[in-house]
Amino acid sequence: MAEYTSDLLIMGSGPAGYTAGIYAARAGIKSLIVAGAQKGGQLIRSSEVENYPGFADPLSGFELMEKIHQQAVNLGVKIIDDEITEVDLYDQPFVCNSAGGNVFTSRSIIIATGASVKWLGLPSEQKYIGHGVSSCATCDGFFYRGKEVAVIGGGNSAVEQALYLANYVDKVYIIHRRHSFNAERIMQKRLFENRKITIFWNNVVDEVLGKENPLEVTGIKIRNVKSDRSRILEVAGVFVAIGHHPNTEMFRKYLHLDHGGYIVTKPSSTATEIEGVFAAGDVCNPYRQAIIAAGCGARAALEAIRSL
Ligand code: NAP
Repeated sequence: MAEYTSDLLIMGSGPAGYTAGIYAARAGIKSLIVAGAQKGGQLIRSSEVENYPGFADPLSGFELMEKIHQQAVNLGVKIIDDEITEVDLYDQPFVCNSAGGNVFTSRSIIIATGASVKWLGLPSEQKYIGHGVSSCATCDGFFYRGKEVAVIGGGNSAVEQALYLANYVDKVYIIHRRHSFNAERIMQKRLFENRKITIFWNNVVDEVLGKENPLEVTGIKIRNVKSDRSRILEVAGVFVAIGHHPNTEMFRKYLHLDHGGYIVTKPSSTATEIEGVFAAGDVCNPYRQAIIAAGCGARAALEAIRSL
């Protein structure tokens, strides 16, 4: 167990956290980043990023976060591989405890803890997580080479995962509860042109089917919400891509969260209702764009520095 004191503590190591760290380091502020459970944030699981300015050719989310991490390290940002699990925001300096048993005391805080995937909530889905049910095509897609899989959802994540999986598998079924996607047009065009992908519009998943010993997915039972007719699709993998929720539960006691669980900041600011506490990235907006998170992280750092 160690005790750390800083003027600025940044929670999270996605684009928002690292960018905040870069700005704080360049300003000569005594700061540190506590990386969180997933160093590099959600972007490390993204197969391809082609909308982050500065890169003429697409690169993987992992590569992008490696570059941002290295930039932070080169600028002297102090990064601790640990996860804050408890915060006391009643008084300044704020005190935070971590999973690693460390204690962090800081005059100001930037919350950049990002978001986590949503699950359908079916008992059968939960049973097979890690045994055929996944939320990350980039991490697990390779294991389904030559097989058939299903992707659930109709946003950018679902379309991106379906396109990625089509590189490996024989067939991708995309199951969406509506009759249109809310993914970007360019992504939809690629999806519609891909012969390996079949879309089941207006369908929901009622059950994930599988075997015991070893646990293994064998299919899904889907239902058309218009006709109420059910059918079984035989698939070896199910990729759930129905959105995310912000990682803000730890702050609920102290900060105003909106109906989606996002931290409410002051108008045109990253400042929260607690002086010295700022929020940046996916914890305070639903866009889940690396560039927005990075910009928000820069702003949070500038506002935190000004407040010290
Ligand atoms: P999203 O845009 O919120 O889409 C979630 C999808 O899942 C919607 O189609 C939604 O359908 C469906 N859904 C939600 N709950 C469901 C449930 N219980 N059962 C069945 N379907 C359900 O989430 P996302 O795709 O993760 O994207 C989130 C943000 O990240 C967006 O701003 C997106 O642009 C961004 N993102 C960007 C990229 C990229 O730039 N390449 C990649 C990934 C994500 P309904 O419409 O019916 O609610």
